[in-house]
Amino acid sequence: MKGADFADLDGRQIRVGLDVGGTKIDAVAVSPSGEILGRLRRPTGWGDDAVVESIVLAVSALVEETGFAVSDIGSVGIGIPGLVDADTGRVLHAVNLGVESLDLAVRAQQALGVPFRIENDVKAAALGAAVLRGVTGSMAYLNLGTGVAAGIVMDGQIWRGARGTAGEVGHISVDPNGRLCGCGQRGCVETFCGGGALSRAWGRPGALPVKDIFDAADAGDETALALRADLYHGAAAAVRVLVLSADVETVIIGGGLTALGERLELGIRASLRADAETSAFMRSLHLEERIELLASGSPAAAFGAALVGASVTEKEIVSHG
Ligand SMILES: [Zn+2]
Repeated sequence: MKGADFADLDGRQIRVGLDVGGTKIDAVAVSPSGEILGRLRRPTGWGDDAVVESIVLAVSALVEETGFAVSDIGSVGIGIPGLVDADTGRVLHAVNLGVESLDLAVRAQQALGVPFRIENDVKAAALGAAVLRGVTGSMAYLNLGTGVAAGIVMDGQIWRGARGTAGEVGHISVDPNGRLCGCGQRGCVETFCGGGALSRAWGRPGALPVKDIFDAADAGDETALALRADLYHGAAAAVRVLVLSADVETVIIGGGLTALGERLELGIRASLRADAETSAFMRSLHLEERIELLASGSPAAAFGAALVGASVTEKEIVSHG
């Protein structure tokens, strides 16, 4: 694609979205009509300076590869783990990036000369999943990765709650006698279905511990069978919590564990069905019909970040008259 193709943008500009993870950045360029024009992945740096630099490099590479100019970019949105102040663009406690406190929006904006907006990665992914899957009304995005978190979208808007913790279902305790969670409680949803917690409970070396657990369960290993059952039970509990607390119509499941594909989906569905068989109330909720799995490698998080960048910009234009 050549830069000339963007000459008729007529003031409506390219939106760039970046999903910044612990090891890689997933970057997309989105047209004014919402079409993904280009996508690439780059490694993420460690620590404040390297994180900023890797973000700037990712945007530059995306510009070059997709064939438009930095001046065609209307906004860049970033989804990033950790505590995010969406108003100031500051990121706090992003431990897997080596960041304690970083004025990310200000520093990236200085480097590239385009407006940056920052959002928590799971909240951005929730928005992206809602738009990509054409969900209107209410939905929750349940991210099953190293940790477990969810984002809630109501009528096209991210729902944060009073202090930004809406959707933190990973730390709802569902077993007071369960495994100790990193947050200090016992039996959190995350201790059942978070990849990190399952990997620690499994305790055997391997690059893909959750896949190893599934393979060992298929071979009849009792520890693996119990951990796989925990995963299904925990994910089903998260779905139940999201529907019972926010009454979202749809729960879209994404995150690294979706690489397990049907092995994950069928188990979660079976767990929801088992709940429905023993409870008329659960049966009345039709939970199994309300879940969807994103395909592994979905651009939802980066796409959602692009929407975050664009939406905040529009709001600012309105408020400044
Ligand atoms: Zn916890």
